[in-house]
Amino acid sequence: MVWDVSFTCDICGKKKGEANHWWMAMLGDVPCYDEGQPGFRFTLLPWNAAESRNSDLYHLCGQGCVMQAVERFMTRGSIEIDMAATR
Ligand SMILES: [Zn+2]
Repeated sequence: MVWDVSFTCDICGKKKGEANHWWMAMLGDVPCYDEGQPGFRFTLLPWNAAESRNSDLYHLCGQGCVMQAVERFMTRGSIEIDMAATR
């Protein structure tokens, strides 16, 4: 996947501008978890130009989209919209 210099929010699709306060999020493994619980942790990182090209990271345009990403993570264990899981 080729990354352009411009980024789009993984939640709402907004394009990143110079003055936006963007964040990055990633899902990582947890060493152990109870049965029936998500096997991931949600990590929120301040925007970092060097790390922003890491394809493991989600790009979030602001607090609203961060909250939405957390909500998706808590309800589905995933940040991406999974059409198959939509009820
Ligand atoms: Zn957004």
